[in-house]
Amino acid sequence: MTSSHQSSPGKVHGSSSSRFDEHQVVVVMVPFPAQGHLTPLLHFSRLILSHNIPVHYVGTATHNRQATLRVQGWDPNSISNIHFHDFEAPPFASPPPNPNAETKFPSHLIPSFEATSHLRAPLAALLQSLSYVARRVIVIHDAILASVVQDTKNIANVERYTFHSCSAFMVFLHSWDKMGKPQLEGSHIPQVPSLEGCFPIQFMDFITEQSEFMEFTAGHIYNTTRAIESPYMEFMENIIGSKKHWALGPFNPLTIESKNSKGRHFIMEWLDRQEVRSVIYVSFGSTTTFTEEQIEQMANGLEQSKQKFIWVLRDADKGDIFDRVKVKEHDLPKEYEKRVEGMGLVVRDWVPQLEILSHPSTGGFMCHCGWNSCIESMSMGVPIAAWPMHSDQPRNSVLITEVLKVGLVVQDWAQRDELVTASVIENAVRRLMKTKEGDEMRERAMNLKNAIHRSMDEGGVSRKEIDSFIAHITR
Ligand code: UDP
Repeated sequence: MTSSHQSSPGKVHGSSSSRFDEHQVVVVMVPFPAQGHLTPLLHFSRLILSHNIPVHYVGTATHNRQATLRVQGWDPNSISNIHFHDFEAPPFASPPPNPNAETKFPSHLIPSFEATSHLRAPLAALLQSLSYVARRVIVIHDAILASVVQDTKNIANVERYTFHSCSAFMVFLHSWDKMGKPQLEGSHIPQVPSLEGCFPIQFMDFITEQSEFMEFTAGHIYNTTRAIESPYMEFMENIIGSKKHWALGPFNPLTIESKNSKGRHFIMEWLDRQEVRSVIYVSFGSTTTFTEEQIEQMANGLEQSKQKFIWVLRDADKGDIFDRVKVKEHDLPKEYEKRVEGMGLVVRDWVPQLEILSHPSTGGFMCHCGWNSCIESMSMGVPIAAWPMHSDQPRNSVLITEVLKVGLVVQDWAQRDELVTASVIENAVRRLMKTKEGDEMRERAMNLKNAIHRSMDEGGVSRKEIDSFIAHITR
């Protein structure tokens, strides 16, 4: 690491290989501190690094550790030219999630979101120091962290891009709504639910504060591909676009190398023994917590479906996933795991989702429709049983089930406050895994996978767009 690095704020770790030259362009990633936001910007770093551009990834030590520990498909520690800056922030409260909260949004994470305001000063100092040694500093920040990067406007050779961690469809709907839903030639826009029940007021206030600092952005970046979302990208470019909109995804690796047997998760060995496309993977990301009552219905529904399953039974992450306060494990019906032995696995830890989705035995995914889960599932050709919980998820589920037709709805969003019964779950699983309708979705999902992979091949739409983005920032 050069001395200029060492004088930059925050503890720095990562590669030691870089030497700056003043012609160089460097990228600084500023992720929002929740798993569904940390991961895509870390995956995106991998794409930037492959163009020999140094990347600086900033956050608290806790969140940087979380991001690197959980990333799959590549190892940030073995790649040169990535620098993690552990900025100091006062400790934030890390309460456990409340399964009985009024909305399913993970409000217990709000203290960790608010703590991001402490990143502003060390980030400004880092950018200042980088701006002396690099020709141009490119800041790529999460859309809901715009206030933290507000000082970029004071440094001449810093250019800032806004990363949207959701689908282009979601961002499009927001703008389209604001414009009074104009008729769009050649495009059918499906009915989508309102945002009622998606976010608590405290978080809406947080987002509103961020939107005040959006004006200095040089462009918008999406973890998507025009192979699936071209109408929405075109709308944003042609109708609202004073700024450039870049579809540079999927950011996640498309081929996942299985670890050698020693480092492999036991789930993968289990999947090896199952028939092709016979297993439904059931997991609700990092921000969902079920009630005890719902867990019981889920357990019974999966058992009654008589389909092979992997069920990840975890609560939402805490703000600090490393704090040692133990949470009580959820109970399952008596002798449940014994009864489903051979048929299903219940896992209570973090699992390698990308690896599971890319395994040939996985044939369906019951999930909450977090955007990462959607794009990962589509990149691996796995159809979805959609059960949205909060945030952008209800609208993503419309994209998945109605527009792309690679999934079905478990229970309507309008009935979100009702218990989803075992028979509804059983029915959704059987429909996806055991009917002609499910097979057709699997086939469409496979076609989508192929289109997504082609988009990242030489000459494909996403690859061309990445090349054009790289050419633009290094101009
Ligand atoms: N994930 C994982 N293992 C788990 C749970 C989640 O690898 O046990 C990953 C998943 O692959 C995805 C991310 O965590 O990349 C969750 O993001 P998503 O947008 O789907 O949902 P969120 O957690 O933000 O609600």
